[in-house]
Amino acid sequence: MNTPSGDTIYDVIIIGGGPAGLSAAIALGRSSRSVLIIDSGRPRNAPAAGVHNFLTRDGVSPAELLATGRAEAATYGAHLVEATATAASRRDDGFRVILDDGTSVQGRRLLVATGLVDELPDILGLTERWGNDVLHCPYCHGWEVRGRSIGILATGPMAMHQAQLFRQLSQSVTFFLHAAPEPSAEELEELAARGIRVVSGRVESLTVTRDALTGVLMEDGTEHQIDALVVAPTFTARAGVLTDLGLEATAHPFGVGTHVESDEVGQTAVPGVWAVGNVTDLMAQVVTSAAAGLKAGATINADLIAEEVRAAVASARGQQVEQGAPDQA
Ligand SMILES: Cc1cc2nc3c(=O)[nH]c(=O)nc-3n(C[C@H](O)[C@H](O)[C@H](O)COP(=O)(O)OP(=O)(O)OC[C@H]3O[C@@H](n4cnc5c(N)ncnc54)[C@H](O)[C@@H]3O)c2cc1C
Repeated sequence: MNTPSGDTIYDVIIIGGGPAGLSAAIALGRSSRSVLIIDSGRPRNAPAAGVHNFLTRDGVSPAELLATGRAEAATYGAHLVEATATAASRRDDGFRVILDDGTSVQGRRLLVATGLVDELPDILGLTERWGNDVLHCPYCHGWEVRGRSIGILATGPMAMHQAQLFRQLSQSVTFFLHAAPEPSAEELEELAARGIRVVSGRVESLTVTRDALTGVLMEDGTEHQIDALVVAPTFTARAGVLTDLGLEATAHPFGVGTHVESDEVGQTAVPGVWAVGNVTDLMAQVVTSAAAGLKAGATINADLIAEEVRAAVASARGQQVEQGAPDQA
């Protein structure tokens, strides 16, 4: 569907149709809730060939996973509009969301599942290889580079942790100090004890041969051969759409980026607004994002039911008063 009705008040508007948003849509659709998903079609893992660590779906392409998810959500009546939500505001009876073509839609509850942006280190040739042989997550694609020569680009607080995680997968790990502060004596001892080589100086560019990473070129002109480079992107929550609601992304406690704070079921500080998946949980994987979407969907359904029970009771009491029945208040 590409022309959402501005007059309809959906039970729930979901901004972002990745694993988190689609999973919530299915839970809500199966609860006979009217759902509108607004999705701009830029899932975070799009550069990757396949999704791993998702039980029964190992290796499925990100595009296929989303196409299947969209079809499942549609089965339960969820509407999808391919658009970008640019702003959201509160109304007496819920929320109004503005789309990039200027149209607006209304919903009683708002679920934000917009994911995050991976801000990559500024190194020549790196962005082009992201999701292929430049990677960040051992659980996503570590197995695919096991036993190969792996470089760790130290740019932030995760580098030491990443080095030891990838050492589990290969005996050939090189730690490029690049922009990181000099490791402590204890950290150097830990690296040495596991046979991880440490290279000082900044990495200038990546060397690519026949569409495969083959090494890094240092600023001092030396070259080091590697088959894969592990980086630690800064994770930036896609939270701009929430600004007018008074919600903004805050620094994540691990020092790895920004996120929108929410509780264990995805509820934010603004009543009626939920946030799930990578926009709130920077470490979430596909399956955990989907699980969070299901949990939020169920909680939103319960929240709507509570509102409807209150309204039904108030209405029944009003009718009873009108009919002269005893007031049971
Ligand atoms: C290279 C790479 C490989 C990965 N591989 C794996 C893997 O193998 N296994 C695994 O479990 N995890 C993997 N991940 C992590 C995985 O991508 C995330 O866990 C997952 O995508 C989070 O789902 P999400 O629904 O929160 O966000 P996303 O999947 O990013 O979906 C967010 C959706 O919201 C849309 N959107 C954003 N803003 C707006 C807006 N304003 N209006 C409308 N739509 C909007 C986007 O276009 C997108 O479609 C990988 C990540 C990367 C970077």
